[in-house]
Amino acid sequence: MKKPSKYDRLSQDFPRLYRLEGRETCFTDWGVECGAGWFDLIYKLSADIEAAAREAGLDPNSDAWPRVAQVKEKFGTLRFYLDVAAPWDPSEFAVEGNPDAGMFALRPVAKAPRIRELIREAEARSADICEGCGAPGKLRKNYWIHTYCDLCEARYKRGQKTGI
Ligand SMILES: [Zn+2]
Repeated sequence: MKKPSKYDRLSQDFPRLYRLEGRETCFTDWGVECGAGWFDLIYKLSADIEAAAREAGLDPNSDAWPRVAQVKEKFGTLRFYLDVAAPWDPSEFAVEGNPDAGMFALRPVAKAPRIRELIREAEARSADICEGCGAPGKLRKNYWIHTYCDLCEARYKRGQKTGI
């Protein structure tokens, strides 16, 4: 059984954005795989996305309403993926990484430019917020790349549990 997490509040407060049922989807549901320190950032992003969707005239009860596919940490910063409905539309994917070096991934992106921008901003902001506890942090490129504050970094180096 999945253990309760702070992030469970997201599906309670944004049931349509974090819905599991509905249209055929491109992704299975992994949930939110981030430390608790990014909760406020992800919560605000969720609220902003719903506000932007409302402004764009989307119906919350339709399949057109944005749906979160996966939220995780990658290379030390936040990755927030919205779902892409079948049939796949190439405009809903972006290349991430370095195709010339053969190191890249396709990531789903929101059709609405405003939502795409909100996600990009939040992902960039995550490089300044400790994933462990939410204090100001910085991206640390050690053996394992992550964004931690000094305290969580020290705990991490001692092999202790980080965060709140
Ligand atoms: Zn911290």
